[in-house]
Amino acid sequence: MTILVTGATGQLGALVVERLLELVPAEQVAVSVRNPEKAAHLKAKGIDVRQGDYSSPESLEKAFAGVERILIVSGTEAERLQQHKNAVDAAKKAGVSFIAYTSVANAPNSSLSLAADHKATEAYIQASGIPYAFLRNNWYIENEADGIKATAQGAPIVHASGAAKIGWAARRDYAHAAAAVLAGQGHENAVYELSGKLISHDELAAIVSSVSGKEVQAQNLDDAAYAKMLVGLGLPEGAAAFVTGFQTAMREGALSVESNDLEKLLGRPQQPLAEVIAALIG
Ligand code: NAP
Repeated sequence: MTILVTGATGQLGALVVERLLELVPAEQVAVSVRNPEKAAHLKAKGIDVRQGDYSSPESLEKAFAGVERILIVSGTEAERLQQHKNAVDAAKKAGVSFIAYTSVANAPNSSLSLAADHKATEAYIQASGIPYAFLRNNWYIENEADGIKATAQGAPIVHASGAAKIGWAARRDYAHAAAAVLAGQGHENAVYELSGKLISHDELAAIVSSVSGKEVQAQNLDDAAYAKMLVGLGLPEGAAAFVTGFQTAMREGALSVESNDLEKLLGRPQQPLAEVIAALIG
């Protein structure tokens, strides 16, 4: 059986591969990456490195040949919906028998702007008839790294999410859950809401305080003030509005998805956020 991971030169994909090597022999692992030179270290471990660009259906078809199980890591580019469709079509042509896809919390009903691509990709996978597992990842705690690091200089953790709770977890935990699904059995047509324990920004600030030993506050702004702050940090206005939209959606509860799917797939509790934060702030 060959398990193939796309995006293996990215942060999540690299952690999925690292975990897969603890679960199955390297001969059973393949990766599809757009730049194989970046994956030389994986080749050295005995992994079958294939070239596949989400924008090139032909390259994906070749990359997926002979593969049974595949992880499609959601893309980063504006045209990613079409790219995901290319990957699903290529999987179908190659006879892939299981697709795991990294989606987002509550994808079909989320007010997050980026959820539209995930919702449409999930629907496309379902329509393909290939058995699937949707890994609806909540928020990486690493997304907050800059704000957490800034607290060392006395800055508050600035947000606009009010008292909303978010299911932050370590990227590594999401990766390990993905690897468990790829290497395991009985995940056909499963939808996993992968959330850490729900906490607010105030509670996050308290964890950062406990780790750093410094008094850290969360500061809740309205959307306009939050966007202005981002522009002040150098973001173009369009990007600032886009990022502020994440806060708006959080406030509306888009990431307040309570579930124990993550720890069930991990077979252990999530890595304590305090540990991840300690590593982030060194
Ligand atoms: P990342 O480090 O940016 O990795 C993205 C991966 O996608 C990279 O391996 C990249 O390839 C690959 N990729 C992008 N465009 C591609 C293309 N045209 N063809 C083939 N591969 C392509 O992001 P991450 O931290 O691993 O996260 C994985 C995904 O989760 C992201 O892509 C994004 O959709 C989503 N995400 C979720 C959260 C969350 O909090 N839930 C946060 C950030 C991102 P290269 O290595 O060649 O660049």
